[in-house]
Amino acid sequence: MQTKNLQAIKQSNRARTLEFIRQREPISRREIARDLNLSPTTASAAVADLLETGFIREIGQGVSTGGRRPILLEINPKGGTIISVDIASAFNRRIIRAAALDLKSAILTEIKREQHIDSNEAMLATIRGIIYGLIASPDVTLRGAVAIGISVPGLVNAEAGELVFANINVKHLLLGPMLTDEFQVPVLLQNSEDAAALGEYRFGVGQGSTSLVYLSIGAGVGAGFVVNGRIYQHGRTSAGEIGHITVQPDGPVCGCGNQGCLSALVSSEMLVKTVRAALDGGYLPETAVLSSESLNIHQILAAAQAGEPLCLDIVTRAAEWVGIAIANIINFLNPEIIVCGGELFEKNDYFFSLVEQVVWRRALPDFMNAIHLTRSSLGRRAGLQGVAVLALDTLLKSPYLIVQ
Ligand SMILES: [Zn+2]
Repeated sequence: MQTKNLQAIKQSNRARTLEFIRQREPISRREIARDLNLSPTTASAAVADLLETGFIREIGQGVSTGGRRPILLEINPKGGTIISVDIASAFNRRIIRAAALDLKSAILTEIKREQHIDSNEAMLATIRGIIYGLIASPDVTLRGAVAIGISVPGLVNAEAGELVFANINVKHLLLGPMLTDEFQVPVLLQNSEDAAALGEYRFGVGQGSTSLVYLSIGAGVGAGFVVNGRIYQHGRTSAGEIGHITVQPDGPVCGCGNQGCLSALVSSEMLVKTVRAALDGGYLPETAVLSSESLNIHQILAAAQAGEPLCLDIVTRAAEWVGIAIANIINFLNPEIIVCGGELFEKNDYFFSLVEQVVWRRALPDFMNAIHLTRSSLGRRAGLQGVAVLALDTLLKSPYLIVQ
């Protein structure tokens, strides 16, 4: 029992030390001990363990504050490879990306595939396939891979590695344990928006901030919230079900049973459906050529921007609803940064500028003056990079890491 406790304390010190080095590198052992409230011996032991794993390395010497110049430590990018998989829903299709990343979460190789996923079996087969595809590429081998991180749309129980529910007929899928068995490395599962929020916080527009909300509007609506470097979650599931904020009290019925939820009003599929219905009903677009059959969200946004009355009306209303939701988030949380990602924001800043106007009109001016409302800088890579960070953390706590 006591040995178990000691093990747990050691693991926790290693994880805290690694996290601290990540945030503050290059840094000395003395600073680690001081700022993490560890004894010099404990800090040195944690550093020695991490050096042994190869996850960190010593670089040069720092400035002396009297006495010997301290040796500095940083994350060793070549200490291993993390494999990340990101499943994203776009209009009418799923886009699966996988990447091999170094320990600083820089992407080494990336592959992308489109696939139809509509069952647990299809989801598992798709993820397995893309991981095998990636490790077959010449510069990635499974032997170098130390952990796998997967970001998926839907409700996730990260602790159990379970995809609880995804709106593509996938539920109660124990992806974590199944893939761990197969690939013999720790596997971490996280919700897409949470992973993207962490990615933006660490590597994108959120660097150096304390709180960040990531909002995605595409085939679905979702959000992730990071505070002080951690994904905000209550119990086993995350927060951020922003799709179910009511923005039109007497609006259409949502899948959740409520009326007028944001996700029942705004999604790429919803906008396409609305314009298509008008075209099928005989509507003749004024300034754009739109065909019902090959219609997509980017054509609608471009037509709206060009002033096509129907598209402009539909897109402006969508921006109003999204703006209402964001203003609510701002007034409630007052985060430092709000990052907008997903299909509606990704091609150019047209939709974003419409939303921004609504938010300025509706959120508290004092909060607006301090907030940074922006588009994603990393796009879908935010999720790949965010989940890689989590995968490395998982590895530190896993039995696969052989440091006693
Ligand atoms: Zn709802």
